[in-house]
Amino acid sequence: MINLLKNLLDFIWPQFCLGCNREGSICCAYCLNDIILKEQATIKWPEDNFYFEECLVCCDYQNEIVQKILKKYKYSYLENMADFLVTILEKQARRAGLDKNTIISNIPLHNKKKKQRGFDQTEILAKKLAKKLDLKYSPLLKRIKQTKTQAQLSKTARQKNVKGVFEALSTDLTHDAPSIVLIDDIATTGSTLNQAALALKNIGHQKIICLVIAKN
Ligand SMILES: [Zn+2]
Repeated sequence: MINLLKNLLDFIWPQFCLGCNREGSICCAYCLNDIILKEQATIKWPEDNFYFEECLVCCDYQNEIVQKILKKYKYSYLENMADFLVTILEKQARRAGLDKNTIISNIPLHNKKKKQRGFDQTEILAKKLAKKLDLKYSPLLKRIKQTKTQAQLSKTARQKNVKGVFEALSTDLTHDAPSIVLIDDIATTGSTLNQAALALKNIGHQKIICLVIAKN
């Protein structure tokens, strides 16, 4: 039924590629091919110590299509955009060769913000990705402080802004010590990911890998 509706909507409002305007989907196969996946080496923020083991990045935020989609998707839930972003995440996750007991989780929004927007974009991405990879999704973090938007802040201000913002939810997962893959959309200084990783390590999780769509 949902597929039928989707096909009907596609027929009434055909989609155009955000890269080349070709009709059919928000990102055509040619443009998708051009979105270069970064080498899976950890991105380095050399002067810092991080609590996560590595951070895998899919592409540069400067990529026009990815930037357009991330901006739109943040404020309005669109299934085709979520699916597109998951395609990119999946490519990079498969390259990383994750263990089969890996848990997929996400950097959550504050509950108030989630209510305002009606959805949490990274939660949806993480759930969809877990399904594609046949791995378990589990919510492991809670945002306990509302923070200022990071975009306009300096690096030091960002670090201060996100300090102590996450609380790790207790689960029985720590006993098997599986690796955790934390999904987020954009990484800039790594401060948010770092605080999330710290909260998880504090309750006994051992291995945390961050997987973000874009590095700004
Ligand atoms: Zn295209």
